[in-house]
Amino acid sequence: MNRDDIIIIHGTNYKEMAKQVLDRAGVADEIGDRKKRVALKPNLVVARDPSSGATTHKELLEGAVEYLRENGFENVAIMEGSWVGDNTQSAFTAAGYREISKKYGVELVDLQRDSFQEYEARGMKISLCDRAASVDYMINMPVLKGHCQTTITCALKNNKGVIPNKEKRRFHTMGLHKPIAHLNTIARNDFILVDNICGDLDFEEGGNPVVMNRVLGFKDPVLCDSYVCDCMGYSVDDIPYIRMAERLGVGSTDTANANFIYLNEDKAGRTKFRMSHRVQGLAKYTDAKDACSACYGSLIYALDRLNDAGELRGKKTQICIGQAYKGQTGEIGVGQCTCGFQKSLKGCPPKAIDMVRFLEEEWS
Ligand code: SF4
Repeated sequence: MNRDDIIIIHGTNYKEMAKQVLDRAGVADEIGDRKKRVALKPNLVVARDPSSGATTHKELLEGAVEYLRENGFENVAIMEGSWVGDNTQSAFTAAGYREISKKYGVELVDLQRDSFQEYEARGMKISLCDRAASVDYMINMPVLKGHCQTTITCALKNNKGVIPNKEKRRFHTMGLHKPIAHLNTIARNDFILVDNICGDLDFEEGGNPVVMNRVLGFKDPVLCDSYVCDCMGYSVDDIPYIRMAERLGVGSTDTANANFIYLNEDKAGRTKFRMSHRVQGLAKYTDAKDACSACYGSLIYALDRLNDAGELRGKKTQICIGQAYKGQTGEIGVGQCTCGFQKSLKGCPPKAIDMVRFLEEEWS
């Protein structure tokens, strides 16, 4: 797999989806020696079930462990350190990881209890947990979701889990962006398997999940987070740590020239998921009929950006979306299925950032 590749798979069999992404990326061949120490680094910021939109689904961990075992890797561990306000042990239980640990004999490593050492990180001293620093290959498994301070969070910020609590506190006193960028010059990002199943609208602790039913694969954490901006309707320049990481040589923000590898097509009919009040409030601006999950989720994120900018105020029009609109006419819609409408945004699915620009222009 190349650094400019982005692997995308849709569906609801999350375990198999994780395996397929890892297989397509050729992770086993890249690791090489079967005796190497491999770690899976999920996002367990808090002790909550993944359906909340906060934490990495256990099925992805299960898929990754099975893939590695089937390819002869025995030395596999799951490691994480929750945020300072929560306890990693409780988070392992809440996310269902203890069952995975027991079923496959995989160690759960609580990095909040680990020793650490200080490293030079391109002009900053940063402490890393010893167990995380000692692995040969790290699979970073973030959740694509919003964040109350940094706006988005995915690959780059997920590595905050491999530093000790005292360092997490220091990062916050420094405003997060600069230390997150520097951290990624020393933290491993050998492969990034993104949980884009139902990440939260705008809060790292969950509560407003947006169902997308996707798993993504990247080699480059900067490209990953830049693509996340596209998916959530932000500009890369809205999140300072992404450009900072690019300038430090961690990766590239160039999603326009990325090579997209689609392992399957999205399927319609998942728009009737359980929505929080916040998501319902945005959904009332949509008229969805047989919309695919990623398409509909992108529209929810786009409407949230427009709401943030005060552009939904007084709007009565509903945006049509979904496969039932194929061959139909209408006023305004997003996605290839609404190409017969008076105003329609191309794409299958269109990205949230393009939906934001399209709706801003049409409503201006
Ligand atoms: S444009 Fe239509 S087919 Fe394509 S993702 Fe959206 S709803 Fe699905």
